[in-house]
Amino acid sequence: MSFADLGLSDELLKAIIAKGYDTPTPIQAQAIPSVLMMRDLIAIAQTGTGKTASFVLPMIDILAHGRRRAMMPRSLILEPTRELAAQVAENFEAYGKNHDLKMALLIGGVQMGDQVKALNEGVDVLIATPGRLMDLFERGKILLTGCDLLVIDEADRMLDMGFIPDIETICSKLPAQRQTLLFSATMPPPIKKLADKFLSNPKLIEV
Ligand code: AMP
Repeated sequence: MSFADLGLSDELLKAIIAKGYDTPTPIQAQAIPSVLMMRDLIAIAQTGTGKTASFVLPMIDILAHGRRRAMMPRSLILEPTRELAAQVAENFEAYGKNHDLKMALLIGGVQMGDQVKALNEGVDVLIATPGRLMDLFERGKILLTGCDLLVIDEADRMLDMGFIPDIETICSKLPAQRQTLLFSATMPPPIKKLADKFLSNPKLIEV
């Protein structure tokens, strides 16, 4: 199995080669075609399995189609910590360098003014921690009604950090017709419940 077999665009294949990867990891081989077919996904995978690229790569190809609108981000990636959010943003920049996609990173410890400015300019992908996203949402600075692609990464860590109520609120603000991808190293009952409530006919991948 090679990256060229997964259905990704030629521009993306070039960026993957530039990064120095030649073979997809098992989670990438299983997840990428299914995400490109717009299916919901539950992936039980640890960090180090290549799980970040398994959602970032197909998202870039999905987002390369369609138009950006001011104040209406088109997709959202939720991360439990600032560090993880920043790492995912770096991945987006590296793989997305041949695409004209706008990204905004909404994390604590950064001035809200700059984040609001970025939002107003139109965003294809929002990478956020739940706390800062809720804060901006409650201040009326962000509209989530255009976000029809959602990634909940490290769901079990979100649970440990007490973010599940925030995630439920955020999910309820997103359009009901959307694609949702959930990644977690383990599947404790509250995460299973979250998946049952917010995902529709998901493909299950365990690596
Ligand atoms: P992750 O599980 O997303 O944190 O990725 C773990 C590490 O594997 C990161 O340093 C990635 O850059 C690297 N990686 C991701 N996909 C591949 C691949 N297909 N081949 C080699 N390394 C990869």
